[in-house]
Amino acid sequence: MRQRLICLSLTAVIGTGLLAGCQSTTLGGATNSSRSQLLLVSSAEVNQGSALAYNQTVSKARSGGALNTNKTYVKRVNAISRRLIAQVGVFRPDAVGWQWQVNVFQSDEVNAFCMPGGKIGVYSGLIDKLKLTDDELAAVMGHEISHALREHSREQLSQEVAKQQGLSIVGAIAGLSGETMGLVNMASKYALTLPFSRTMESEADTMGLELMARAGYNPEAAVNVWRKMQQLDQGGSVELLSTHPSSATRIQDLQSHLPQVMPLYQAAKNKYRNAP
Ligand SMILES: [Zn+2]
Repeated sequence: MRQRLICLSLTAVIGTGLLAGCQSTTLGGATNSSRSQLLLVSSAEVNQGSALAYNQTVSKARSGGALNTNKTYVKRVNAISRRLIAQVGVFRPDAVGWQWQVNVFQSDEVNAFCMPGGKIGVYSGLIDKLKLTDDELAAVMGHEISHALREHSREQLSQEVAKQQGLSIVGAIAGLSGETMGLVNMASKYALTLPFSRTMESEADTMGLELMARAGYNPEAAVNVWRKMQQLDQGGSVELLSTHPSSATRIQDLQSHLPQVMPLYQAAKNKYRNAP
């Protein structure tokens, strides 16, 4: 409700159709992830910056000999991506037509991301160090894809603009996104380095659980994977947790949603029984 009130007052202050204002980026699905969001910058701007930043990351990995070198991992990550992406239309039909890209980076980092507009990166260290099964890998990727579907980076950027600039919001957006480099830096900051909020984490957990279930991956694995991450993080060595702050209630929350998504998994798994 508080979020809603802030949205309404900002929209009233701005008072034009120039900015997107408040809406949910996604349909609810079976788990009802449809909170209203403050969205002051356009998807087009955020996605353009994201695509440029992603290309830079891929180019750097390629020139360092660290792009898609482990063929087994590439095959697994691509197969899981295909099945998850096939389900995104449940939450937002337009995402089916996104220019999805998937790459595996050879690195010790325990990390993965999905940048705005569907730019996925999985680090080999995530699979190695956590010894992930396909179901567990699908849990992490489903979670990351959900951040992109919910446009959490765009929402965070909008919140920052609102906080910093108040009434001069329009000028702030023009300043932030006026140049290509501005867009790239913005996308890198909001999609790769800034932690998501607990609300966003909780939404990505729930939506990710439903995505993986619909794709025929056992959602119970999501509980395992966050447990494994917490165990490995004793020395703060799990990079993913620095951008995805975990909470003590995360596992409980995931477990509480299992009854909603297990029937979806049961219905989907036969379809994929003989899949590679
Ligand atoms: Zn997250």
